[in-house]
Amino acid sequence: MVIGLLLVLQSGTPVYDRVILRGHVMDPASQLDAVRNIGLSGGRIAAITTEAIRGRDTVDARGLVVAPGFIDLHAHGQTAETYQYYALDGVTTALELELGTADVAAWYREREGGERINYGVSVGHIKVRMAVMHDSGTWMPVGDGAYRAATPAQIGEIAKRIEAGIREGAVDIGAGFPYTPAATRDELLAVFRVAGMTKTPVHVHIRPGVAGLTEALALAAETNAPLHVVHVNSSALAETPVMLEMIGDARMHGHDVTTEAYPYDAGMTEIKSATIQDVYKNAPDERLAELEWPPTGERLNRESFERYSRIGGPVVIHTNTEQMVALAISNPLTIIASDAYWQNGTGHPRTTGTFAKVLGHYVREAHSLSLMDAIRKMTLMPAQRLEARVPAMRQKGRLRVGADADITIFDPATVIDRSTYREPSLAPVGIQHVIVNGVSVVANGQAVEGVAPGKAIRAPQ
Ligand SMILES: [Zn+2]
Repeated sequence: MVIGLLLVLQSGTPVYDRVILRGHVMDPASQLDAVRNIGLSGGRIAAITTEAIRGRDTVDARGLVVAPGFIDLHAHGQTAETYQYYALDGVTTALELELGTADVAAWYREREGGERINYGVSVGHIKVRMAVMHDSGTWMPVGDGAYRAATPAQIGEIAKRIEAGIREGAVDIGAGFPYTPAATRDELLAVFRVAGMTKTPVHVHIRPGVAGLTEALALAAETNAPLHVVHVNSSALAETPVMLEMIGDARMHGHDVTTEAYPYDAGMTEIKSATIQDVYKNAPDERLAELEWPPTGERLNRESFERYSRIGGPVVIHTNTEQMVALAISNPLTIIASDAYWQNGTGHPRTTGTFAKVLGHYVREAHSLSLMDAIRKMTLMPAQRLEARVPAMRQKGRLRVGADADITIFDPATVIDRSTYREPSLAPVGIQHVIVNGVSVVANGQAVEGVAPGKAIRAPQ
């Protein structure tokens, strides 16, 4: 019997590049939820089977969950350093869709040698506005890009450059209204009109609260623009339930609106940015105590706020509650996206722990959502958000024969984040193997050195 089986293997069955054996395969698209063997060839999934298969390389996945690779729609760090952090958190595709870039062609050119994971970018209203208004900020606007109203000619130029970015294959359009407070409704309408005409989703960091969501929904309705509301948790805070309901209603009325959340009750952004300065410039000390300076862990007061505002750097913002975060993460509407924030060797712990925290804390410990639902929010839902504009996304976020071999293998019993506000670079535990386009980028929980199988995610040009 054993000899017979070996002969069949030697003569008939193919040898795959890599096989993943006896893992618990979970695929939200097909609802497959069973032990299977998976064969990979040429960067794609070639077999999903109960039969014995063999490959030139074998991953033993017994006791582990085998899921489609996680897709992060909101990852600001786009460097070799952050791509490694994301991979260790199970991410196989990381996209910078909120801030984006003003020069889409150059952005992709800089990465065409390959990266650890798949990458992509939006054409960003914030970045384009900074260029047109000659703002001196390096990352976010600090001068006219934030605070000066654009002339009609400048609005025309902003719209023209966004259209150019779309022609160059930008994944979508990014915007952040609190970062560009001087942008008038006419200017925002011009941006949304481009989105509506080209059927390109706009990923918007809305102004806070119900009023901010109402504004974005109205712009989208008026222009027929597909709308994606970024980090609903930090934009909605205590209004999370009503704002999720508003998004659900808009969808029921046929509007293409989606949203995302990250699993932390504090946010982080640049202290010099308009979104911080506008709110806290004249705030009393009780309010300033919402802000934490990460290097020291101190809560801010008037004196320290002004001192650190001159230096610049990321500041932690404690304005949400755990109850609202759990609600945002478990709601069926939200995609999991990290809003990864990392600059000069430091940043928010969500950069390194978002996906492991959802799986370990919200699924296993808190029972806020099922494992299959969590995986859907990390894989199929973000792929579907983009696939009308970026057809390549139809081959991601699913485990099926022919799909890209982007696969994340984790231990559901131990997976958990470890990063903190004081130590944001600590990698999670329990993310055992991560495969990008058929190539191992994380093996046995460790980053594999010297691999760059990640490809550009880009709309057709
Ligand atoms: Zn962001």
